[in-house]
Amino acid sequence: MYRTHNCGELRIGNAGQKVTLAGWVQKARNLGAMTFVDLRDRYGITQLVLEGTPELGREYVIQVVGTVVERENKNPKMPTGDIEIKVESINVLNKSVTPPFTIEEVSDGGEDLRAKYRYLDLRRAPLQRALALRHRLAQEIRNYLDGEGFMEIETPYLIKSTPEGARDFVVPSRMNPGEFYALPQSPQTFKQLLMVAGYDRYFQIVRCFRDEDLRADRQPEFTQIDCEMSFVEQEDVLNTFEGMMRRMFRNALGVEIPDPLPRMSWYDAMDNYGSDKPDIRFGMKIHQISELVKGQGFSVFDNAPYVGAIAVPGCAGYTRKQLDELTEWVKRPQVGAKGLVYIRLGQDGTKSSVDKFYTPEQIAAIADAAGAVTGDLVLILCGEKRKTQTMLGVLRIEMGNRLGLRDPKVFSPLWIVDFPLLEWDDETQRFYAMHHPFTAPKPEHEKWFWSDSKEDLERVCANAYDFVLNGTELGGGSIRIHNADMQKRMFEVLGIGPEEAERKFGFIINAFKFGAPPHGGLAFGFDRVCALFGGQETIRDYIAFPKNNQGRDVMIDSPSAIDDIQMQELCIASTASR
Ligand code: ASP
Repeated sequence: MYRTHNCGELRIGNAGQKVTLAGWVQKARNLGAMTFVDLRDRYGITQLVLEGTPELGREYVIQVVGTVVERENKNPKMPTGDIEIKVESINVLNKSVTPPFTIEEVSDGGEDLRAKYRYLDLRRAPLQRALALRHRLAQEIRNYLDGEGFMEIETPYLIKSTPEGARDFVVPSRMNPGEFYALPQSPQTFKQLLMVAGYDRYFQIVRCFRDEDLRADRQPEFTQIDCEMSFVEQEDVLNTFEGMMRRMFRNALGVEIPDPLPRMSWYDAMDNYGSDKPDIRFGMKIHQISELVKGQGFSVFDNAPYVGAIAVPGCAGYTRKQLDELTEWVKRPQVGAKGLVYIRLGQDGTKSSVDKFYTPEQIAAIADAAGAVTGDLVLILCGEKRKTQTMLGVLRIEMGNRLGLRDPKVFSPLWIVDFPLLEWDDETQRFYAMHHPFTAPKPEHEKWFWSDSKEDLERVCANAYDFVLNGTELGGGSIRIHNADMQKRMFEVLGIGPEEAERKFGFIINAFKFGAPPHGGLAFGFDRVCALFGGQETIRDYIAFPKNNQGRDVMIDSPSAIDDIQMQELCIASTASR
């Protein structure tokens, strides 16, 4: 037997027992007559005491036989800190070259180096905790959905383009020269076909692929909890997945979330938080103050279609220098404001950057409308309505960060509902589906959906919903179109001609002709769910083998060129210079 116990389980109650342990040497401290070793495996660390000075390098794999004894110097920070193993015999199972960085709670290795030796980084406790949480959550999801009658069904990876709006990863087909598969951006069409096939509750924890420019914290391949249900309305879907989330919070974190979860319309989210994924852990809502500020001779406000403000609590003491810095901050291209107007509501009086245009009473009324009280700092931006609200939303999050209002241990989930169905794009002069082209309009808005006027179409709300947690969209979905004529109309509205629609999505339009049931569903981004549950911003730690910001796996050095012979077999030529 290699081991009788693991490295995390022995306690004072085991004192006197003879045990066999196996693991990695994290550290060996040689004190002349004695050597102390921290022996590690994924369950923890146990201290060994050996006589003499055995040759033990870091990360050697060893097996020891010894007796559990009470420690003289107990370590209350370690679960095994009351005991140590007095080693009687040691067996080196394998040596290790010196690892390129320390494999401890906090490593001395840089990110790139750790990525190259990911299998060593994965030995560290923080990553082991992250993957253990991921595993726990996956089990909770499976157990819950199984209990609710969902079937886990796999859908293919070699398919054709899916409609999630990103670029596809493609795979050349050797057997069909000149033709390509696309990897799924999501199993959207397949799960709808499963509904047509009568599998009325489907789920899959599934890899999806999107060839997007990698913004911070995106992965070209990522995992979704993908779900679909038949004979349901929005209410049924929200209730089912609220239940799943409630169970995940309860069983993995011991956290209770509100029952029922708050719901907010997309319009309210934009108006009050300047974001379709509002962080409702703190207030600082956006207030429209257009009427109060116009017509007093301040042309910047007079010419702006919208003026909005937030009241930052307790920041009236901001200095000139801090305000200048904040002004520069909102002018950065990432935010894009032209300038920033402020009102400081200090104990010793009010001061604003627009004092010469407004009377003290008017300034007081503006501050009041922004929801400010004495001690607050009012920040005002103006311009086109949605753009300005978005900027105020970004500013709100920034101030929330600066004030420590975004505690990762506080969880404020909610549903965003009533999205617009369509988004007009000025550049291409056409509508895009805000979610995807299979999303149904709200039944009461269907009349506008068939109208040819742009205004009518802009008014149509989707039967769609997003699950938002702490300012991050964790998932989203919709009730689907299940009628072939309606689906055709959707493609028409999106400027996809009948031929293109037939070529790309003929199979699903056709399937809808064979008795498609009413259905709907959603998908959660599993990597991000794990990161947020773990209280972290970055998803990379929750993926065993992630890619870096350039989409590269530096451990296996991929992507990489392939042999000419392979290129020929696939009938492809490369224009890239190697
Ligand atoms: N397929 C959608 C997505 O990936 C989710 C859904 O509508 O179920 O965002």
